Amino acid sequence: MKVVIVGSSAAGITAAETLRFLNKQVQITVISEEPDTAYSRCLLPEVLAGFKNLAGIRYRSADFYTKNNIDLRLNTKVAIIEPLNYSCKLEDGEVIKYDRLLIATGAAPVRPSGLGSELDGIFTLRSYRQTLKIGQAADTAEQVVVSGGGLVSLKGAYALRQRGVQKVSVVVKSPHLLTRQLDEVSAAMIEKELTGMGIEFIFGLNQTGFEERKGTGKVAAVVLEDGSDLPAGLVLVGKGVTPNAGLLKNAGGQVNRGIVVNEFMETSIAGVYAAGDCIEVTDRLSGQRVSSALWTLAVEQGRCAAYNMLDIKRIYPNPLTALNSAQFGDIPFVSVGNALGSEESEIFTAQTGSRYCRLVLERDRLVGFILAGCIERAGVYTALVRKGSPVTNSLKSKLLNGTVCAADLMLF
Ligand SMILES: Cc1cc2nc3c(=O)[nH]c(=O)nc-3n(C[C@H](O)[C@H](O)[C@H](O)COP(=O)(O)OP(=O)(O)OC[C@H]3O[C@@H](n4cnc5c(N)ncnc54)[C@H](O)[C@@H]3O)c2cc1C
Repeated sequence: MKVVIVGSSAAGITAAETLRFLNKQVQITVISEEPDTAYSRCLLPEVLAGFKNLAGIRYRSADFYTKNNIDLRLNTKVAIIEPLNYSCKLEDGEVIKYDRLLIATGAAPVRPSGLGSELDGIFTLRSYRQTLKIGQAADTAEQVVVSGGGLVSLKGAYALRQRGVQKVSVVVKSPHLLTRQLDEVSAAMIEKELTGMGIEFIFGLNQTGFEERKGTGKVAAVVLEDGSDLPAGLVLVGKGVTPNAGLLKNAGGQVNRGIVVNEFMETSIAGVYAAGDCIEVTDRLSGQRVSSALWTLAVEQGRCAAYNMLDIKRIYPNPLTALNSAQFGDIPFVSVGNALGSEESEIFTAQTGSRYCRLVLERDRLVGFILAGCIERAGVYTALVRKGSPVTNSLKSKLLNGTVCAADLMLF
């Protein structure tokens, strides 16, 4: 059997590794448009900060591909899939046949928009090579503007400050940071920490365009929706990502928000599977169809797809898709599940010293939480959300004051 995997990252590499673990004979080809072997995308901010290089963020050792007898094609883009012939065509015209194809093409950052968005010096943060370019540009830029208040934007802003950029300003349309993950109190803790490091925040305004440094083709400023502008030698835009679903869509496969797969990670095209950020999943808690946009989920899905491609049936259960954690300076946070709550939710909060806890309960079950400042035992909280066990008053107190331990979960 011949398996072709498009994408050499969390989903693709895990699938290749699992295939080889399960079967020594299967032929595996991994195709990546990037020039580098697999690395951890989550560690790109460390590269931007100047703390790590490619070797320091490798996802597998350099000899992983040869050791596992994987035919690796770097710098190679798959242009189209031809499902009727069970083949895909590369950009250079080469045709590669497959018995099973895994699309693990991830997601791409939403492109900067607005007047002047084609100017030099405007970046998004997704790949190692992009990160190197941002770093180079940052070394000569006196002022950087980050557009967007999401997690990747904030990680980028923090990394640029750590790299030594003098002035970093973040433009956020929402009233506070990380509105999808954090409530006002925990967001304020992060904002205070980052402000203390010299990062400036401009809330309530969108970036609408960019100004050029006359006649240079380079960005000079970011234009805001109130007509004002912010000088910038470099702009980092973080407006979310879009699943790379084009290959499957153009071949006639079913795509909504992302590629649609069944519980076996199979797409609507026979012999074609998909995993990682390119697919959509059903969130275990909300039941809503959402993009799968986490490294851990891409790994689970890649593994599950590998089993199924070898006809060893494995069901991929609906995942918990809201699982976020990061640390800015001395403030770590974890936000899991429906951490903001809804009309049916009961919300409990506690703040002791520099520790903040927010619990969201529905019908006596923990459906989401935020821990900020101290995230000890976050695994226990996450297990409770996953398990959906009832939360008694005594357990609730322990959760709020941070004394809960794994043994408490054995009570149910
Ligand atoms: C800065 C940053 C920080 C992050 N931090 C976290 C975090 O803390 N925790 C977390 O869970 N997640 C984090 N993420 C998200 C995480 O990186 C992704 O969820 C994960 O990388 C998805 O893996 P994937 O294998 O689906 O796809 P990707 O990692 O996106 O890889 C897909 C690969 O396929 C290639 N490709 C696409 N189309 C083609 C084609 N036609 N031909 C050949 N190759 C192609 C792409 O170039 C890419 O190399 C972060 C992401 C970024 C950018």
